[in-house]
Amino acid sequence: MLRLLFLSTPVGPLGSGLGGGVELTLYNLAEEMQRRGHEVVVVAPSHSLLSGINLVKITGNLQIPAQTQTRDVPISLPENGVLANMWEYAHTVQTQYDLIVNFAFDWLPFYLTRFFSTPIAHFISMGSMSLALDHIMNQVAETHPGTIGVYTRSQAETFAFADTCEILSSAVDLSLYQFCAQPDNCLAWVGRIAPEKALEDGVAAAVATGIPLKIWGKIQDEDYWQSILSNYPGASLEYCGFLSTEALGASLGRCRALLMTPRWIEAFGNVAIEAMACGVPVISYARGGPTEIIRQGETGFLVPPDQVSGLVTAIESLDQIDRCNCRLQAEREYSLEALGDRFESWFDKIIKKD
Ligand code: UDP
Repeated sequence: MLRLLFLSTPVGPLGSGLGGGVELTLYNLAEEMQRRGHEVVVVAPSHSLLSGINLVKITGNLQIPAQTQTRDVPISLPENGVLANMWEYAHTVQTQYDLIVNFAFDWLPFYLTRFFSTPIAHFISMGSMSLALDHIMNQVAETHPGTIGVYTRSQAETFAFADTCEILSSAVDLSLYQFCAQPDNCLAWVGRIAPEKALEDGVAAAVATGIPLKIWGKIQDEDYWQSILSNYPGASLEYCGFLSTEALGASLGRCRALLMTPRWIEAFGNVAIEAMACGVPVISYARGGPTEIIRQGETGFLVPPDQVSGLVTAIESLDQIDRCNCRLQAEREYSLEALGDRFESWFDKIIKKD
């Protein structure tokens, strides 16, 4: 039995959607580790919601997400920052745990690593974003080999220390996603509504095919969202809000396909495997995580990045796909059990080395 302390993302409370896919990954992993008999405590910003898992809520101002800043910007911490407060708490309780697991894509936890006596596993949830952060992660990769984990190979390759990364992939709780064999005539786009996700391309593809688009996700950048609405005044768009995993898993299956339009190197794309779990094929730009998930012509289509015409052709080819294959791939490759096996063996290696 391991005693695990998870340190959440400091960019938003758990359940807010501000943290993106890492919120779901943390929750899935915490659940699975607990199911295996390990002790899990999660430390997260105040107002976090997490059912069935011990949660320590920490006050303080939220951290600015790395993807909203330029690569050369110096590291900054707000006054009374929640990130520093969370790590101060971790420092005071560290001897009660076998391992601390960091889910923050931030400089401070990497810098603090050498000052902790309890080993730290760093799960990084994005590709390279910041020179200062890359620099400290590189140092940790050298001084604490094997302690950096990523979702995918494509994500790892954005870093100089790619070969030292543990590739951990992601998972879904399959029981929460309802398979739907006969979808309605609509397409889905799911994710944080922010420029790096290029929702506008999904809207353009839906407009070109004349198929309505349903949109789910946290509006992280309101100006960006408004600009899409004003650029496509006649588009058949339905914003369905930011739903709980259960509610999303009950609705997503009714769509013919999920469109993924990342402008950045998507680290993974949890929404891809959530769609597959509902039997929904995924059409994505061939960039980052989706290239390692989608099976061309079998569970979706990978199309040339930034070309709406490729999305349109793929939408027109959807009849080629048997939706059962999508659910099957999710069951075979993205179960919580498989995730638990990968993380458990990574944790064991780190603890034994220490
Ligand atoms: N999501 C959600 N409710 C919604 C729409 C999205 O919970 O209505 C979650 C979704 O489950 C996924 C996350 O938002 O875990 C988006 O993560 P993804 O890995 O696709 O991209 P990221 O935001 O990390 O770049």
